[in-house]
Amino acid sequence: MKYNVFIIKYAEIGTKGKNRYVFEDILCKRMRQRLKPLGSFAVKKEYGRIYVIAHDDEYDYDEMMSRLTKIFGITGVCPVKVVKDLTYENISSALIEYVDNEYDNKDFSFKMHVRRNNKEFPMNSMEMDASLGGDLLDKFEAEGLHVDVHKPEVKIEVEIREKAYIYSKIIPGPGGLPVGTNGKAISLLSGGIDSPVATYMIAKRGVEMEAVYFNAPPYTSERAKDKVKKLGTIVSQFAGPIKLNIINFTDIQLAIYDNCPHDELTIIMKRFMFRVAEDIAKRDDCQCIVTGESIGQVSSQTTHSLGVINDAISDIPVFRPLIGMDKQEIIEVSKAIDTYETSILPYEDCCTIFVAKHPVTRPKLEQILKSEEKLKGIIEPLYEKAMNEIETVYLK
Ligand code: ATP
Ligand code: MG
Repeated sequence: MKYNVFIIKYAEIGTKGKNRYVFEDILCKRMRQRLKPLGSFAVKKEYGRIYVIAHDDEYDYDEMMSRLTKIFGITGVCPVKVVKDLTYENISSALIEYVDNEYDNKDFSFKMHVRRNNKEFPMNSMEMDASLGGDLLDKFEAEGLHVDVHKPEVKIEVEIREKAYIYSKIIPGPGGLPVGTNGKAISLLSGGIDSPVATYMIAKRGVEMEAVYFNAPPYTSERAKDKVKKLGTIVSQFAGPIKLNIINFTDIQLAIYDNCPHDELTIIMKRFMFRVAEDIAKRDDCQCIVTGESIGQVSSQTTHSLGVINDAISDIPVFRPLIGMDKQEIIEVSKAIDTYETSILPYEDCCTIFVAKHPVTRPKLEQILKSEEKLKGIIEPLYEKAMNEIETVYLK
């Protein structure tokens, strides 16, 4: 059965007081943006509820559901049957029809839950619970339907407002907060498993995302770059449009390679990545940097290395949502958000090409600063050139 009206369940976090309206309005805006390409939909806010109404009968239900259930802030989408003429008989017969259509097998326990917001309706909610529940039993008891008020398999909701709304199924959404309620971040997005998950997790807290990818042609291929674009596009289904900055990092990496100790290459290279990210953050009004780092994963992610890398910048915080997660936990999220299969495609990354056989795991800041001294006069024009030649693509 294809319904035309949906009740949107959304998280209550961050919705207290006057913030509630900001949160709801941004959520409605996100929903309209995502539904617009699919046809004519209304997103309505009424008495603390958000509804989606499909105006055309010929809309793509699966695509609509797939889009709504990726919008942060939404915890569930409920397809509802609407009863326009508010009489008891109409509600009862619509309810019977609803259960008949939705459940081929009627051997299950249920509980009626009527909410009467419209006090003009003559019966109260408890009377309605008993009476509608009785009507369902009269009709379907022989097929196995029975009541269990404590642990029902199915909770059947009827909301009586100026119309009545019947539903029992909730298709889960991702939760979180609507993107746009919490500022903007720049994410270091590589082609690996971790950084798309990190980007997703910060966006889930309502943060608008921008991204930066360090490319090293000809050492890295066009396919590696396409892979990052594809990952960003998948994440943008949740996070909204992502502006991706592609930096040509080759000359900077070669300069580091030619002038610095090879066991420090990764650390120094990461420090330059952070500097670039900080500069873009300032340019584009991002309040923080996001990476996919997790303690101990590789030599550049020991607590010593993270500290030395972090020290490259000072004006802006770096958020690492995966910091305490195991690889397996990260993989589970990447599978759930559908980035995993793309992430494991075996294309080279700029970090792996210039990596030393035995990179330092306990770098000392003084030593790294000394090595970076050797880049003075060489790296500045390369840095400036890279910043001037940023390639920008908008992923959505
Ligand atoms: P990922 O799976 O995200 O690639 P990783 O396990 O390969 O991470 P590293 O290569 O040490 O770990 O990178 C740590 C973090 O640095 C990444 O999660 C990402 O945020 C950032 N990073 C690494 N390489 C790049 C790159 N080429 N472009 C942009 N960011 C990068
Ligand atoms: Mg990587």
